[in-house]
Amino acid sequence: MAHGTVMNLKPIDFRHSRILITNDDGIHAPGIRVLEKIAHTLSDDVWVVAPEIEQSGASHSLTVRIPLRIRKLSSRRYAVNGTPTDSVLLGMLQILKRRPPDIVLSGVNGGSNLAEDVGHSGTVAGAMEGLMLGARAIALSQIISEKGPINWKAALAYGPRVVRKLIEAPWASGVFVNVNFPNLAPEKVKGVIVTCQGRRQLQERITEAFDPFGRPYYWIGAPRQDVPSKSKEPTDTYATTMGYVSVTPMHLDHSHKGMMRTLRTAFPSK
Ligand code: MN
Repeated sequence: MAHGTVMNLKPIDFRHSRILITNDDGIHAPGIRVLEKIAHTLSDDVWVVAPEIEQSGASHSLTVRIPLRIRKLSSRRYAVNGTPTDSVLLGMLQILKRRPPDIVLSGVNGGSNLAEDVGHSGTVAGAMEGLMLGARAIALSQIISEKGPINWKAALAYGPRVVRKLIEAPWASGVFVNVNFPNLAPEKVKGVIVTCQGRRQLQERITEAFDPFGRPYYWIGAPRQDVPSKSKEPTDTYATTMGYVSVTPMHLDHSHKGMMRTLRTAFPSK
């Protein structure tokens, strides 16, 4: 497939569209209910297939060595004992195989998916898998403060109009969209801007501690401190720290065209 050049002009009439929702925080996480509310503003044909337990940081992992189970919780609502990728695969190729969804929405994640987070994110991977299987796919994340309850109001206020505009817009092939809502009351949000992926200084930290038997264990993670990263284009971290909703179109194709040209000098073809 030629990525990035061909615009997908096929209009999607969202009122008759089938929407599949997944996440990486697990089917019982509050953010998935927020996304269901957003999806129901577009269509009545909304299905949920999501991991039984939290899969944050699972990235695009696929379970191939152990069997997967689908557990029906209620009408149009299923849990899978696997990753977000497994959930989208089973949702599209098994549960909804007779009529696959037109749109895959992943989230709303409780926490940002900005800059390098994209590489670790199960939320983003859920959208990528939806795209790979032929749907329009959007990952959605609500930025949170480390302390206190999650405030979903920016996602609830801006989610419906952002998703609707994205669905109505022409898309390049091989592209999904990563949306982050700032941690602000809706009336404080400055608007929506289109961004590129930002960069952070490496923020992961390892905490060493000891279990009750004196053996060391390690915990990866550090509180996020976003500083707006510099670029010619506004970045996702810049947009959200300045109080905007960030909308980043992202490419499935990770290859770098400029470096390909440089490397061809080192590896000339005969
Ligand atoms: Mn998560």
